[in-house]
Amino acid sequence: METKFWELKKNPEAAIDEAAGLIRAGEIVAFPTETVYGLGADGLNGTAVTKIFAAKGRPADNPLILHIADTEQILPLTTGLNANARALMETFWPGPLTIVVPRSEIVPDAVSAGLDTVAVRMPSHPVAAALIRAAGCPIAAPSANVSGKPSPTNAQDVAEDMTGKIAGILDGGSCGIGVESTVVDTTSPVPTILRPGGITREMLEERLGAVEIDPALNGNPALRPKAPGMKYRHYAPQAPMYLYEGPQAGQRLLEAAIRGQKQGLCIGVLCDDAVKKRLEESLWRGHTLEILSWGSGKPDLAEHLFELLRSFDRVSPQLIIGMGVDEKGLGLAVMNRLRKAAGYQILLAEEDRITVRSGSGFPEFLLTADR
Ligand code: AMP
Ligand code: MG
Repeated sequence: METKFWELKKNPEAAIDEAAGLIRAGEIVAFPTETVYGLGADGLNGTAVTKIFAAKGRPADNPLILHIADTEQILPLTTGLNANARALMETFWPGPLTIVVPRSEIVPDAVSAGLDTVAVRMPSHPVAAALIRAAGCPIAAPSANVSGKPSPTNAQDVAEDMTGKIAGILDGGSCGIGVESTVVDTTSPVPTILRPGGITREMLEERLGAVEIDPALNGNPALRPKAPGMKYRHYAPQAPMYLYEGPQAGQRLLEAAIRGQKQGLCIGVLCDDAVKKRLEESLWRGHTLEILSWGSGKPDLAEHLFELLRSFDRVSPQLIIGMGVDEKGLGLAVMNRLRKAAGYQILLAEEDRITVRSGSGFPEFLLTADR
């Protein structure tokens, strides 16, 4: 299949109209949102929705989010909204928040993977909103990556995964938030975060009072996550990845990277600007480390995380070591993605000691703390 590529700088209305026509005709088009790029189909057309699963290689038991452009557009999709759902819509829409609500009969089985609920979001990105309005239907859209790879945050990363598989790609530049939407189940007695994202736990609590977090999100393999998609290995670069967490994460990562270099290993390092600078100052000349920094602060980490994880696949290190951040604010969302990327191979770096938080079979040079 030929995949059209529309650069939106030129004549955006004509491109959006053409893309909307393809969606109405049952085809798939990738488009930018404020979180990541989405792979969109007519959300009320079960046959069109099935093509999304084929293009991504997505397991059929992982339901999709329906994207709408106006609040009232949710009404035909659900049998009813409770006070929590309405409060969340009022406060956070349009924006990076998805709500899970009871599903109505017009929602195809393919969208909700047979569940009796449906996930709905109203994105704030102007191209996403214009596309949904022009198509005249809710747009079912997961992230526009091949299943298992990091979500794409620019059109080139979409093209890498989807050229030849879908009808077109709308290039709206880079996504500002960089991690996927927060998914909140409004049908449980206490609203529950099923996936942390751009709207933080603190923001939700300020609006709703008590909010729970799905206990399966901390990586305990014995628990089954309520969002089916959260059980899959995700965001993983090809090389094995290990994560340092805790107050000394940056320091321990720095020391380990230097030890690894001395052993002649080709290591990918994921850290912030401050650690990158110190590491470059302490390394041997002609170093073999690939050091990728996200900048400074959690918003920078969220914005650049997926593109950095994808970059490691282009340089193929033997292993990757990453540095975690605390879980306040956006930290919960980025740590959820980082821990998954690392396959829960996590070391806790406290004063003077490193302990295994989860995982096994760590290379020895990661486990010793310099004195
Ligand atoms: P993606 O579209 O790839 O960003 O993934 C959407 C996420 O929302 C996945 O983790 C899904 O499992 C989750 N999700 C979608 N619909 C529902 C639903 N009805 N109930 C619970 N989780 C859902
Ligand atoms: Mg996804």
